[in-house]
Amino acid sequence: MADYAIRKPSEACFACEAPFEKGQEHFSAILLEEQEPARRDFCVACFDGRERDPEREFAFWKTRRTVGGPERRPVDFNTLRELFFRMAESHAGEYQKLCYLLGLVLLRKRVVKLEEFVTEQGRDYLVVSTKNRPEPLRLEAPELVPAEFEELRDKLKALLDVDLEEEAPGTSAAVAAGAPSASGAAGDEAESEAAPDATA
Ligand SMILES: [Zn+2]
Repeated sequence: MADYAIRKPSEACFACEAPFEKGQEHFSAILLEEQEPARRDFCVACFDGRERDPEREFAFWKTRRTVGGPERRPVDFNTLRELFFRMAESHAGEYQKLCYLLGLVLLRKRVVKLEEFVTEQGRDYLVVSTKNRPEPLRLEAPELVPAEFEELRDKLKALLDVDLEEEAPGTSAAVAAGAPSASGAAGDEAESEAAPDATA
């Protein structure tokens, strides 16, 4: 398996490596790298000054190192759904696994609709659709032992900066490029701060 590009919310800027102070505003971005999606945190100066790549940059949000206890940002299912379909386009193994896992989450939350579970030649497939994408999307179930599943789940959580078990409907924090609308995703170490900016 490839190196972990997705890490816990960082303590420092990915570009200049300056540490974030408690309460300091910074940006978090989800970048669709070749092998897997990556969560990157940037200080405001580096974020403003960096070269933009709309193809690669899926979403970003402004956040802040939390002072005191952990804050939960609400999950934005429109963004998650958009990320799900973007990840489905990549055939890199890590994308496929994360995509399948995210698909299960979205299924449970009824953000996507189950068409069927099928088994063909010993392989399991999940087939889902959504209102705005009626063409069924077929995902092969990855073979995962429970420990891998946990690992993948942590990875997804770190990527999205959100606790998938404790989501709530609500406020805006991340915007998917090209997504019609979006509202927040979030996490342990950062709290959502500002309204989202469009990526593209
Ligand atoms: Zn920086």
